[in-house]
Amino acid sequence: MSTPLAICAPPLVPALAVYASDPLRSRGRRYAQPRDLLRNDFQRDRDRIVHSSAFRRLVYKTQVFLNHEGDLFRTRLTHSLEVAQLARSIARPLRLHEDLVEAIALAHDLGHTPFGHAGQDALNGCLSEHGGFEHNLQSLRVVDALERRYPEFDGLNLTFETREGILKHCTLAQAYAFEAHDPGGVAHRFLNGTQPGLEAQLANLADEIAYNAHDIDDGVRSGLITLTQLAQVPLFARFHHEVMHAWPDLTGRRVLYESIRRMLSAQVHDVIAATGEALQTVRPADAEAVRAATPLVQFSAAMSAQSRELKHFLFANLYRHPQVVEVAGRAQQVVRDLFAVYLAAPGEMALEFAGRTDTHRAVADYIAGMTDRYAIREYERLTGQAWRA
Ligand code: MG
Repeated sequence: MSTPLAICAPPLVPALAVYASDPLRSRGRRYAQPRDLLRNDFQRDRDRIVHSSAFRRLVYKTQVFLNHEGDLFRTRLTHSLEVAQLARSIARPLRLHEDLVEAIALAHDLGHTPFGHAGQDALNGCLSEHGGFEHNLQSLRVVDALERRYPEFDGLNLTFETREGILKHCTLAQAYAFEAHDPGGVAHRFLNGTQPGLEAQLANLADEIAYNAHDIDDGVRSGLITLTQLAQVPLFARFHHEVMHAWPDLTGRRVLYESIRRMLSAQVHDVIAATGEALQTVRPADAEAVRAATPLVQFSAAMSAQSRELKHFLFANLYRHPQVVEVAGRAQQVVRDLFAVYLAAPGEMALEFAGRTDTHRAVADYIAGMTDRYAIREYERLTGQAWRA
């Protein structure tokens, strides 16, 4: 006979579940450091991330719409904050470690290039003969090597659990490359087919919930998608219908906001219920047992299907909208031109990049770290071309 999971009611902060990651049982940092008297190791990770240069730059990096296209669109920073909010809201009733889930959420996009996925694709093309470029690997590179703030080591020296959450996916070839210099490290699970901790699984799903919702909001704000179109998407339509039923005279943005609010809330509750059920079935004895199990943080089958439909809608109608594609094309040209200029004249880069011997990777690291507006400024300075031309 199984007993139901203890799900606490807010505002209590419940004790950690046995399957939660525990900072006292962390696999540790790459460079041993004494414990902090006031903060647990996951809190410290979160604080290191918040104080990093890469985190501050997220405010001027594109999510979908270029940073300067409007003041109200999401940026990488506000996106990351929304991911952290959702992830924490789900972590608490599941009794997972909120500090860890927050650290992973705030760090998950640190490796994004300027201009969002368009920038990444361009940089990946520039590095096709030199190992390629992928934002998720770059996020790990930022926290492991590129942040230079400590006298004793490069990077932020985060715990294994936070780093594991940041490396959401990688190819087999990349996993072997990691394994060669860090045996049994954060890429090992891609070789032996195990899962990351529950907090990492949760940050990943919260990312998806966050962008599906805020891209609806930004998409409608931009005028590229309409409420009429969205009313054909089942997940959104359900809540839109509810809102119009409750407030038949409601118009304008409040309709959108209330529909999105209800959609987010339903997804949060769905994940808590479906994950709670999965945990009750598998009953992992501790955080290690989670790694050997199937993925446990999940939507119900019905919500998963509806979320996929919404994602397809956003791909077809927003991310591939001719206007978004046109801007992305110009942004890619900026990245390619910058890459060519710096490769030919590394001295144009900041000193710590100019002096590196791995020139291709140094140029990629330099460009990836740029904000949208800095990349445009550099492009105009180095090529003499105007961005809008
Ligand atoms: Mg994200």
